[in-house]
Amino acid sequence: DLANRMSERAVDIVKFFMKQGQILKPGDVIDADTAELVASEFGHTVRRVAEADIEEGVFKEPDKPEDLEPRPPVVTIMGHVDHGKTSLLDAIRNANVVSGEAGGITQHIGAYQVEKNGSKITFIDTPGHAAFTAMRARGAQATDIAVLVVAADDSVMPQTIESINHAKAAGVPIIVAINKIDKPSADPQKVRTQLLQHEVFVESMGGEVLDVEVSATKGTNLDKLLEAILLQAELLDLKANPDRTSEGVVIEAQLEKGRGAVATVLVQTGTLMIGDIVVAGNEWGRVRAIVDDRGGQLKEAGPSTPVEVLGLQGAPRAGDRFATVASEARAREITEYRQRLARDKAVAKHAGQRGSLEQMMSQLQTSGLKEFPLVIKGDVQGSVEAIIAALEKLGTDEVRARIVHSGAGAITESDVSLAETSGAAMIGFNVRANPQARAAAEAAGIEIRYYNIIYNLVDDVKAAMSGLLSPER
Ligand code: GDP
Repeated sequence: DLANRMSERAVDIVKFFMKQGQILKPGDVIDADTAELVASEFGHTVRRVAEADIEEGVFKEPDKPEDLEPRPPVVTIMGHVDHGKTSLLDAIRNANVVSGEAGGITQHIGAYQVEKNGSKITFIDTPGHAAFTAMRARGAQATDIAVLVVAADDSVMPQTIESINHAKAAGVPIIVAINKIDKPSADPQKVRTQLLQHEVFVESMGGEVLDVEVSATKGTNLDKLLEAILLQAELLDLKANPDRTSEGVVIEAQLEKGRGAVATVLVQTGTLMIGDIVVAGNEWGRVRAIVDDRGGQLKEAGPSTPVEVLGLQGAPRAGDRFATVASEARAREITEYRQRLARDKAVAKHAGQRGSLEQMMSQLQTSGLKEFPLVIKGDVQGSVEAIIAALEKLGTDEVRARIVHSGAGAITESDVSLAETSGAAMIGFNVRANPQARAAAEAAGIEIRYYNIIYNLVDDVKAAMSGLLSPER
């Protein structure tokens, strides 16, 4: 690899090492210092592309407070299946289409923007927490506010709870939309009371979480919901500097016939312009066109604007960071580096699994964190509660178990991604993981621990936790 990059013959490099008394075998890896030495011996100038340099080069210096301007909030709608997430997204969009603009034809690009009282709000058009966590798993946080949809004719359901936990783990404030209030069987008060058990305290229950009763199908109180979002956004004081080169996150991307790689990106800071050289994940390209959620061609896009970008050489992945860079050469350098890094990681993953209790323990030890995060799924709610009670008893002044998420039922992909993003151990009691969850765990290098005896489970966690205690104890 090194020979290749220097355009030298591999045999000459092997010879050089032999002269130094080192015999290289195929598959041997040399460290960066050695590589640098070799490169300069061969008369090459070395420029180190370290992670730090990449971050510095791509994600530039922080903004000065005076350069910051208010930006629209970015909202994700979450909640249980069939509680009306999609209906709500559609209703909000349809009620707020700017008529006449590009024929008023909306196209689904993965996110859209509406205007309320002169203020804009950006909605991520993929309901549910799957996209939300997929992004977080890549280290990108696109969402400022989570709207939690709960059907008033139903109740708080498993995915409602998951959504709450995902939002909380991400530190994203929740607004509750109590939906389907047009139904005769609607009981919004029951929803509010049930939410208490999951530590979501709405205003009328003495808390600070905003809640709005809506009907997505009848279009009731959508205005109020948008107002609540704007109010919450005001509290968050969301700002960005539009006068710099752009950075943001990829919402979705695919290869399209006749258009090439099409990526929907959310600009988070700066202004994206036609002609910009951008890097997105492992891909790069020159921005050929910028298209908004109504099919309109734009010349530029500022903070919190979702747009389709044409011109990338390949499709990046949802959740990848993107940024405008200074030159084509720089873009190549960064993407080549990242592709190499991805290969190295793939190799490293085979070598050792992340996410086992032991490894997590040693990770936590070095980070000095004295909480032991866990995601627990069990066959019935009763056993889950018993396990949590037993684990909570293990807590001391120095270390305690933190239940990121728990519930009854099989281990799902969502559980695994929550474990991944929150660095938690994944535990199943008398339940198994479904195939998708198993595949996700495999891909993320997360070990799922299965138990059928509570004592064994608690004992293992206790052992792992005691490893977290300071040596003098
Ligand atoms: P999602 O799975 O959360 O995206 O839910 P959908 O938006 O697909 O809605 C599930 C079902 O509930 C559909 O049949 C909708 O028509 C219905 N629905 C959604 N919102 C309302 C509402 O406000 N009132 C009534 N009566 N039905 C609704």
